[in-house]
Amino acid sequence: MTIRFDRRVAIVTGAGNGLGRHHALQLAARGAKVVVNDFGGAQDGSGGSSEPAERVAAEIVAAGGEAIAHGANVANAEQVADMVGKAMDKWGSVDILVNNAGILRDSGFGKMTMEDWNAVMTVHVSGSAICAMAVWPLMKAAKYGRIVMTSSSSGIYGNFGQSNYAAAKMAVIGLMNVLHIEGAKNNIRVNTLGPGAATRMTEELLPPAVIGLMKPELVTPGMLYLACEDAPSRVILNATAGGFSRTYIHETEGVAFAADACTPENVAAHFAEISDTVGQHLYEGGGEQVIKFVSKAAAVNGIKLG
Ligand code: NAD
Repeated sequence: MTIRFDRRVAIVTGAGNGLGRHHALQLAARGAKVVVNDFGGAQDGSGGSSEPAERVAAEIVAAGGEAIAHGANVANAEQVADMVGKAMDKWGSVDILVNNAGILRDSGFGKMTMEDWNAVMTVHVSGSAICAMAVWPLMKAAKYGRIVMTSSSSGIYGNFGQSNYAAAKMAVIGLMNVLHIEGAKNNIRVNTLGPGAATRMTEELLPPAVIGLMKPELVTPGMLYLACEDAPSRVILNATAGGFSRTYIHETEGVAFAADACTPENVAAHFAEISDTVGQHLYEGGGEQVIKFVSKAAAVNGIKLG
């Protein structure tokens, strides 16, 4: 079945360039009304201009689609409220939020300043939360919402020189986990995209042949699936160069010791068993892990739980 977004209103943050631009173009091409958000700054988050957002909105309109531009800084709650208000005034709902805006302030951890740490955390983590907070009551009332976070392999697996960025990119997965749980009863589905693409963020690091393969438009189909009517929820979908995969956060079954044997020496002696991935679990919430450990503790300590 063709995936369409007719009658849906989508906000795509950071859509003046790179991946966000393609997200906005492809959402609009499939029928969505799109708020093209971008504060138009440099890659490190400095400066600002509404021109990139206006250019992409004009591109959508020229192709026969519907779009408005908004230059909100995603980390500024007042500006984001204004953006959501403008979308509501024009179209009466916000059904889809794609938290894509992002910056980089790379340096080895030894040279990282708190200014660079905070700048990156503020845009990726607070920016994603501020935008989600602004649409949350609307989505709850409409009993419909699709939110897509943007993570990165740098966060999920690590990358030299990106401690601030990696921490921020894992934080949005934590945000997804909770919004998934809290949004479920109101048909709000929350997912995370882990993209890889040649954009101004990465181009300098990539050889020309690789740039040709890593087209940002080849990432966007993954985002469209995560934002569609039949979207899954709480999925981490990786998308690069037309390839798609899923990241799971699993936990091993583990080992429990009775209280009198609960020593660091026993943790060391059983570390291979603790690490054994056979029978690993995918938990639906943190409480499931607690239940596992309490059940094991009861068993090894000879306690019967009611
Ligand atoms: P990009 O620099 O081309 O685009 C990011 C856009 O976000 C820019 O237009 C910028 O002006 C905008 N932006 C930045 N801060 C903003 C703010 N505070 N408010 C509003 N807009 C803001 O980068 P991209 O490669 O297209 O990255 C898009 C997203 O994908 C980012 O979250 C990035 O971290 C993530 N990502 C990209 C890659 C990659 O390979 N390109 C890999 C992993 C993750």
